[in-house]
Amino acid sequence: MKSSIGIGFLLNEGIGDTLRVSLTGDPIDEVRAGYEILRALKIRHKGVEIISCPTCGRCEVDIVQWVKRVEKGVQQITTPLTVAIMGCVVNGPGEAKEADVGIAGGKDSGVLFRKGKILAKVKAADFVKALLNEVNQMR
Ligand code: SF4
Repeated sequence: MKSSIGIGFLLNEGIGDTLRVSLTGDPIDEVRAGYEILRALKIRHKGVEIISCPTCGRCEVDIVQWVKRVEKGVQQITTPLTVAIMGCVVNGPGEAKEADVGIAGGKDSGVLFRKGKILAKVKAADFVKALLNEVNQMR
């Protein structure tokens, strides 16, 4: 958090050509964190940006696990894409429609979107697979 605020502030002011985020742990995470800062500031547009539901009382699905699986599944993709993973069919479709690929999941089934259009109704067990399948077609 401290790194992203400090580095982000400088970059946002146009200061700096390189950056290093120092974290305790795997250096690969330092690179990921640095890249996320650049992406949040819209300085770099590479790879998949995941927009995920913060969850609330309406969420009946395991968003945390979905996001982890999708993050892993898109790690190697360099095409700039947005993917929305939302936890209900009430407010989820709005965000899912805005993304290149999105899903608004419900307890038993959810709706898969691509570029704002409904592609299919998907069973809960198949959400992640269906989402990754679409993302891979767009890479
Ligand atoms: S998308 Fe649905 S479940 Fe997620 S925070 Fe919004 S209303 Fe709650």
